[in-house]
Amino acid sequence: MAGLLSNKNFKITNGDKIVYLNSLANKAKSKGQKVINATVGMLYDENGELSNISFVDDIIKNAPKDVKKYGSISGGKDFSDALYSWLFSNVTLDKINYYIIATFGATAALSLSIKNYCSSSQEVLVPSIRWSNYDTISKMACCEVKEYNLFNGNDKLDIESIKHVVNESIKKHQRAYLLINDPCQNPTGYTLEINEWKELLSFLKEKSNEGPIVLLDDIAYLNYSETNYEKVFALFNEYIDENFMIHVTFSASKTLGIYGYRGGALIGLCKNKVDLDDFKVSCEGSARGIWSMPNSLTCRIITEIFKDPEKEKIVREDIKKYRLLLKERADLFFEECEMVGLVTYPYNGGFFVLIPCEEPELICDKLIKKNVFAVPMSGGLRVALSSLSKKEITGLAKIIKNVMR
Ligand code: PLP
Repeated sequence: MAGLLSNKNFKITNGDKIVYLNSLANKAKSKGQKVINATVGMLYDENGELSNISFVDDIIKNAPKDVKKYGSISGGKDFSDALYSWLFSNVTLDKINYYIIATFGATAALSLSIKNYCSSSQEVLVPSIRWSNYDTISKMACCEVKEYNLFNGNDKLDIESIKHVVNESIKKHQRAYLLINDPCQNPTGYTLEINEWKELLSFLKEKSNEGPIVLLDDIAYLNYSETNYEKVFALFNEYIDENFMIHVTFSASKTLGIYGYRGGALIGLCKNKVDLDDFKVSCEGSARGIWSMPNSLTCRIITEIFKDPEKEKIVREDIKKYRLLLKERADLFFEECEMVGLVTYPYNGGFFVLIPCEEPELICDKLIKKNVFAVPMSGGLRVALSSLSKKEITGLAKIIKNVMR
């Protein structure tokens, strides 16, 4: 007899390991236990308060009644102009047509992109070390995932491995969809060097003569990077081509610390107007069928802050302050790692550090017994520096090293 679930049901245990471990840590904490919760990608200050970006609370408190109304599917022109200016105001994108769609976080942006640009059973080409939700999002879109090696053995991007999987995809499907998470990759904190970007983009442009290629750059942690990312956007402008489209996913959760408000965007960059129209129609069409309209309040927060140069300046200073705080935490953690001989993957900035280990699940379980919560991931154990104070970080490397012995 058929069960209650449909034949296209989507079971994933505990929602997601990250969410599950975070809830375990919170449960232990609520029982009064002393807990180190290094699970979730939210940024907390040294007092355990969520990061606080200027103007956000005021905009929420003083929002007009209008935000109760449906907005437009894309978020509207003001939203688009404001986000465009936040990301691209200092770069010339004269060879690019763009369209911006407001989404429920970068998660929904990824979902729209993969659903509309990676055919059923085609592989989303993902790094061997990655944010686990890419797999879930791909599966939801009826796509497989295929891994390329993230690192080449010399702590640099394994571009040869990327070339290999792209070649294979073109051979098999006559098209390719490549996902990069840069800068401050989750979970390693790695940021591509400009030369790596050049080599990658030049390869993809050339290869797109053999079949359509979409590159998605997930820039969720953009503002926690020291890199001048406008140089990367300028390369997008240089290498974009008829058959080579670039998608960028933006996260308001990470940028403005409004995780629960679910704000984000999918930005389509392409050479031809006709491809842009396809992007608009297909992505807005599927957005309409899933969440219908974006969150008007979130769109308002983004618009009000990014469209006003004075507010923007203050908010960039706020984010810089948090970026420096993360750097202090990372410096402290790495100093102690060195003292106890704990190795990590290359880290250039951002919320997370990844410690390579053979059996991350086992290490995670052993740490839980000590009320230390970190996340087992492909390639190692992820520690969220974003959610730990410097006091909590002190001694953590030693605890992990001892458990790994
Ligand atoms: N991309 C990466 C790499 C992430 O780590 C996350 C969240 O943790 C997201 C995207 C999605 O964030 P949100 O949907 O909250 O914008």
